[in-house]
Amino acid sequence: MTLRPDRTGFDEADGRLAISGMTIDRLAERVGSTPFFAYDRRFLTARVGLLRSILPRGIHLNYAVKANPMPAIVQHLAGLVDGFDVASAQEMRTALDTPIDAAHVGFAGPGKTDAELSQAVASGVTIELESRTESLRVAAAGERLGLRPRVAIRVNPDFRIKGSGMRMGGGPQPFGVDAEGVPALMADLAGLDLDLLGFHVFAGSQNLHAEILCEAQRRTVDLLLALGQRARVPIRYLNLGGGFGIPYFEGDAPLDLDPIGANLAELMERFIRPGMPDARVVIELGRYLIGEAGIYVTRILDRKASRGRTYLVVDGGLHHQLAASGNFGQVIRRNYPIALANRMGDPAEETLSVVGCLCTPLDLLGDHVPLPRAEIGDLVVIFQAGAYGPTASPTGFLGHPPAVEVLV
Ligand SMILES: *Cc1c(COP(=O)(O)O)cnc(C)c1O
Repeated sequence: MTLRPDRTGFDEADGRLAISGMTIDRLAERVGSTPFFAYDRRFLTARVGLLRSILPRGIHLNYAVKANPMPAIVQHLAGLVDGFDVASAQEMRTALDTPIDAAHVGFAGPGKTDAELSQAVASGVTIELESRTESLRVAAAGERLGLRPRVAIRVNPDFRIKGSGMRMGGGPQPFGVDAEGVPALMADLAGLDLDLLGFHVFAGSQNLHAEILCEAQRRTVDLLLALGQRARVPIRYLNLGGGFGIPYFEGDAPLDLDPIGANLAELMERFIRPGMPDARVVIELGRYLIGEAGIYVTRILDRKASRGRTYLVVDGGLHHQLAASGNFGQVIRRNYPIALANRMGDPAEETLSVVGCLCTPLDLLGDHVPLPRAEIGDLVVIFQAGAYGPTASPTGFLGHPPAVEVLV
C-alpha cells in the first residue's frame, strides 16, 4: 500500500496529488524544474485556525522561524500569529520585514554575537538572555546605543520531559540559565540598565503525547510563578515553549489538541491570572504550524536493479531534505511518508528503495517502499517536508544546486 497523505489533507485530482487545487505535474511545470519544495498556504491558515479554536483566550501564538524561514511563509504567518521567535540576525531581519511589531519578536540562541545583540537592541526585539555574560554584553550594547534593551531570561527548567524528539531543557544544557541560578541573575540584572520583561522556558520539541506536554506546561507554570515571585519588576512576558509534534512515521498518531487546550485554560486561571496579571503568555510552535504543509517533489532519473533489489534514483536527496534520510537526529531510520505523486490512483505493485542523487549510502529517502509501477520521469513526493528542510540540510554537500521553494 502506498502511504497516503490523507492525514496531511492534500487533495487528489485525476489520480494525481494536488496542492491548493493544482495537480503535481502542472505544479512542476509552473516551478520549471525539480526538485522543489511546495508549501500549501491554505494548510497554514487552517492549522492556525485549528489552534485558535482550542487555545484559551489570552494565549498568544508565536511562530518559531527556525522551522522554515522562507520569507513568503513568514509573511503569510505574520497575518495569522501573534509574534515570532528567531534565533539569528537573518531570521530577525525576516521577521522584522513583516507587519509584526518588533516588541513581539523574541531572539533566543546560545551564541549571539555582539553584532547580533546590537541589531536586536536597535530593532527593539526581546532578547532571551542565555547567560550572565550575555546579559552584560546586552547591557553594553544598550549603553552604546542609548537604548534600554528589552530582555527576558531563558530558563533551563528543573525538570525533564519524556517523549521529545529533541530535548532542549532539563539537566545540563547549553540553552538558558539553570532555574536555580535565575534569582542570582535577576539580582545582577537589577544593577544593569535592562528592561526585564519575563521568562522563557523551552523544554523540548517533537512531542506527540498530549499528557506529557500538559505535564510540562504545568511544571513550567509552577516554575515561572516561583521565579516571578522573586522578580523585582512586574512580569510582562511568559513564554511557555511549545514542542507540539507532528506524525512523521507510520503508526504515529497526531497530537490530541483538546487536552492541551483544556490544560492551558486551567493554567491561565489557576496560576497565571492571579500571579502575574499583566503577563503576555506565549506558546511558540515551529513544525506544528508548517511541517505538514510542505512536500518535497523529486523526479525519477533512473530505475535500476541490483541483486534482487530495485532502486529508484531521484534528482533530490539529503542535501535538501536531510530529515527524510534519517540523519537529522533520528535514532532509528524510518521512512517518511512517500508517494508516486503522478500515479496516486494506481495500486502498489512493487517494493522499491528510493535513493537520492548523492554519491553516499546515507542518501536513502525510502527503504523498501511499496509503490505503484514507477518509470523514469515520474514524480516522487515526500510528505511532512515543511519544517527543517533546506535550511536544516547540508546544501553544499556534493555541490548540487539548491532546491526551489514555492508557496502555493
Ligand atoms: C527550535 C525551537 C522551537 C521550534 O521547535 P519545533 O519543534 O519546530 O516546534 C521553538 N522554540 C525554541 C526555543 C527552539 O529552539
